[in-house]
Amino acid sequence: MKQLKRLEIIIKGAVQGVGFRPFIYRLATELNLKGWVNNSASGVFIEVEGTPTILEQFLARIPQEKPPISQINSLESSWLDPVDYTSFKIRHSSSGEKTAIVLPDLSTCSDCLQEVFAPNNRRYLYPFTNCTNCGPRYTIIEELPYDRPHTTMKSFTMCESCQAEYENPLDRRFHAQPNACPLCGPRLQLWDQKGEILAQENDALNLSINALKEGKILALKGLGGFQLLVNGRNRESVQQLRQRKHRPHKPFALMYSSLEAIKQDCEINELEEQLLTSPQAPIVLLKRKNHLHLSPEITPNNPYLGVMLPSTPLHHLLLHNLDFPIVATSGNLAGEPICIDEKEALNRLKNIADLFLVHNRPILRPVDDSVVRVMAERDMIIRRARGYAPFPITLNTHSLTNILAVGGHLKNTIAILKNNQVFISQHIGDLSTAEALKSFNQVMESLKGLYDFEPEIIVCDAHPDYLSSQYAKGQNLPIITVQHHYAHVLSCLANNNLNAPVLGVAWDGTGYGQDQTIWGGEFLLVRDNNYERIAHFRPFKLPGGDKAVKDPRRIALSILSEVLGDTNQIKLPFLETIESKELNLVKQMLSRNLNTPIISSVGRLFDGVAAMIGMCQNITFEGQGAMALEYAIDELKTEKTYPYQIKGINYPLIIDWQLIIEGIIEDNLQKISKQEIAAKFHNTLVEIIIDIAQKSHKKNIILTGGCFQNKYLTERAILRLRQEKFAPFWHHTVPPNDGGIALGQIMAGILQKK
Ligand SMILES: [Zn+2]
Ligand SMILES: [Zn+2]
Ligand SMILES: [Zn+2]
Repeated sequence: MKQLKRLEIIIKGAVQGVGFRPFIYRLATELNLKGWVNNSASGVFIEVEGTPTILEQFLARIPQEKPPISQINSLESSWLDPVDYTSFKIRHSSSGEKTAIVLPDLSTCSDCLQEVFAPNNRRYLYPFTNCTNCGPRYTIIEELPYDRPHTTMKSFTMCESCQAEYENPLDRRFHAQPNACPLCGPRLQLWDQKGEILAQENDALNLSINALKEGKILALKGLGGFQLLVNGRNRESVQQLRQRKHRPHKPFALMYSSLEAIKQDCEINELEEQLLTSPQAPIVLLKRKNHLHLSPEITPNNPYLGVMLPSTPLHHLLLHNLDFPIVATSGNLAGEPICIDEKEALNRLKNIADLFLVHNRPILRPVDDSVVRVMAERDMIIRRARGYAPFPITLNTHSLTNILAVGGHLKNTIAILKNNQVFISQHIGDLSTAEALKSFNQVMESLKGLYDFEPEIIVCDAHPDYLSSQYAKGQNLPIITVQHHYAHVLSCLANNNLNAPVLGVAWDGTGYGQDQTIWGGEFLLVRDNNYERIAHFRPFKLPGGDKAVKDPRRIALSILSEVLGDTNQIKLPFLETIESKELNLVKQMLSRNLNTPIISSVGRLFDGVAAMIGMCQNITFEGQGAMALEYAIDELKTEKTYPYQIKGINYPLIIDWQLIIEGIIEDNLQKISKQEIAAKFHNTLVEIIIDIAQKSHKKNIILTGGCFQNKYLTERAILRLRQEKFAPFWHHTVPPNDGGIALGQIMAGILQKK
């Protein structure tokens, strides 16, 4: 008899809730090996006995044949003497250090979908069907290890059939923690605005479908929170939703029943198709086709459409019965976080929704739909939430100190560092409302709790008034404050696994500068653990601060008065849209420097230019001006630019936009199209990047900040930088906007500890 050996294997990574143990069980039994496998909070443990040759085979086949959605970060093995196991078993979970990776929620797999629509299947039309390859994870897990008693499914006792699937290592639902069926699992109810039950289960579904057909607004308890749904082809209903939600302009996303239906309304390439049908199933921004049988209110003046496919059986069942796409937007009032509890939803959404389609599977944490845009033939995440969070970003550096980063103010996310992995929270949102602050605290506690994480250092933005910074100061821990745009650059570095030195181009709307003015048009030379501001845009006044952000005509007035020396010289048509009282007020503010903070932001320059040429008189969301200018270009191809000047000999150099604005005034008077003005403005900004890149003598150029969500700007910058032999880097799995700040703060924390 050949000599037996025992192999002990520890696998870490995304290996729980993905069918990893049944895979190991099948592989071990196929090779006739004995021993056991179990889950612990730090990963999967295996002990197997057999001949060394077979054991080697076993070891080699694990990474080759692992379940598709799993990810192995490390695999350690050691040889031991045999202990004569007689069979192969899946053992109960053990505890240990909590380093296993919690998986994001995954969209319904094709096997489950087939069952939902098969009349003879016991899960026919069951909206909570799932298996180890799909279904809720992050939204239902209370603590690690990922086992049913640690999820919000603990109150549902499985029926005999479900239990049998759950215990059978050869079944697709072996240890599928949210496993359920119509007999034993969560159920639907349809409520009116008072919370009275109108219908249950399939009747609830059918009445909801009818309500959508009739143009009603439906609040749906989805996977990570409530969504508001309405017929995307019904103009009146969409208008009503905008009114009730206090969201006049910001684009709504649409959910389509199938890829084919999307293709009728939008242009779509291979990568976009892959993204839509991926287990993450995000909202993808697509160029829409010209013919429109959609309500124009969905994305006013916008050639792009945010579209997604159904990601849960419940969504599939709704869409399957509708011959129109539906608006699917977060269940909240503008600016507030998404609602997760049905009682709370009733309270917060009763003035928005006509009906509430709810269920009794609790959602543990709010997770919005993610948003992705294809940029230079790669996907760029704009909002990182469902399907992506809390999957960690692995760094090429590490720290033994536990670092917590509290993020920025807009599009807030938080992050924790464990060794070399950064767990970034899902998108929380703008921290200006009480609801958002509550959500910030909840996400903080739940992320810390999930990973048994106690911060030793806390990193925050340098802005003293950010609520996130104030939270940091209240924690009685050593604090590191990080300049906003430096954090943007470090975030992009980490997202590209790149090291300094680099030239960081950090352009956004607002960020607190080290000289106490507002920055946002920055060129930062980033070295090992510091940065130098080597160039920035010529600062201008922001009359009325936030008021100017909401009414960019004020920014236009400010910039024009500097260029022309006197507001009375301004002769552009947009002036006629301003009431004379308001005009005089702003003129006075400018001449007397009353409440006119100084800003060097490219985002605000975009707003000002848009207003100057008669676009975006009034904006209701951050970045609207920049979006309008980007979209104005449409398909125009031109190499034209405006002249500009770079002033100064010593750092920081000043990028003077005087000639750019003069050029725009001239073009506007000459009746040059907005399309061409917008393109020339973008092209000029790109040439400025090239110019400063050449002066910096750095090869690696980082493009970061909210302005680089702009496809034209980013793609042209990449193209031109490459033509000039630079290496451009931009964001990929972490957003360029303030959703990426927390990752940059973590990096700053690591660098400062070194
Ligand atoms: Zn499935
Ligand atoms: Zn069951
Ligand atoms: Zn920013």
